Amino acid sequence: LEQEFLKLRDLPAETIDGHRISLMGNIEFAEEIPTLKGHGGEGIGLYRTEMLYMNRQGLPDEEEQYLAYSAIVEAMAPLPITIRTLDVGGDKLATDLHLEDEMNPALGLRAIRLSLRKPEVFKTQLRAILRASVRGKVRIFFPMISGVEEVRAAKAILEEAKNELRAEGVPFDNAIDVGIMIEIPSAVLVADILAREVDFFSVGTNDLIQYSLAIDRTNEHLAHLYQPMHPAVLRSLRTVVDAAHAAGIRACMCGEVAGESRYLPILLGLGFDELSMTGVSIPRVKKVLRRAVKADAQLLVSRAFTFSTAAEVEAFLNSEISARF
Ligand code: PEP
Ligand code: MG
Repeated sequence: LEQEFLKLRDLPAETIDGHRISLMGNIEFAEEIPTLKGHGGEGIGLYRTEMLYMNRQGLPDEEEQYLAYSAIVEAMAPLPITIRTLDVGGDKLATDLHLEDEMNPALGLRAIRLSLRKPEVFKTQLRAILRASVRGKVRIFFPMISGVEEVRAAKAILEEAKNELRAEGVPFDNAIDVGIMIEIPSAVLVADILAREVDFFSVGTNDLIQYSLAIDRTNEHLAHLYQPMHPAVLRSLRTVVDAAHAAGIRACMCGEVAGESRYLPILLGLGFDELSMTGVSIPRVKKVLRRAVKADAQLLVSRAFTFSTAAEVEAFLNSEISARF
């Protein structure tokens, strides 16, 4: 099987009828890059920067971050790397930024909310990312966006960081793509508004499912209720892709759903442009993609939308996939 997957590495990620989807990797450490490349990753769709801030005293300064980001950007160049700004809080704690115990950490001062509360910490990270952007192809995106004010506030601080670097004569990619995670139900509902502000969306299904269904993503007792194919989730995905395309921006996904090959026909039919997953999942997803036809996947999606429960959608997918893939 591994042999077969290695053969797939150099084949294009496209359907029988020539429709391409970029298959990218999710990473936390530079050490994961060889595995990602070995499995045919076309870039990094999610670089989680939390690890730089966790399990340590104090915060990483600009230089430390610049070196860490540059190493990854250079290792991937000319392929794109999509760097997510700090996403701590909830189930990811960073001691030196964590303010106080919260009743509902998943709904607390976390991710972009924390960055906007600590603009100097945020700007330090943005400056480091901008500086690394001349070493390859960098894109930047913000986690846990709930509405347009947060996007505008984050972009304003990004502009400040750019202006500072410009004044200092430090080079950076002025046309750097800026995106947001779509992982909060309110962001889905205002996706058309958000799409006017950014270059791409990246759907975080791990949190989107958690918040849409009110199911703690880490609670094993609720695992059976954590349903990626819940009709509410499917409708959300469709809303997000349609809003992105109506505004002419890219619809990406970097949650776990993107790496589950049985969901590939659904994601293809919905129209996702890019899927980002752990490197080892890429060959399996590519294999299903290469056996698919875009119009068939669209038909499959319209049938999936006729069901009332996740169980019905899953049963339907099982029968379709065992019949056709
Ligand atoms: C997600 O929420 O789906 C996601 C990709 O981000 P994380 O798992 O880091 O919260
Ligand atoms: Mg998330």
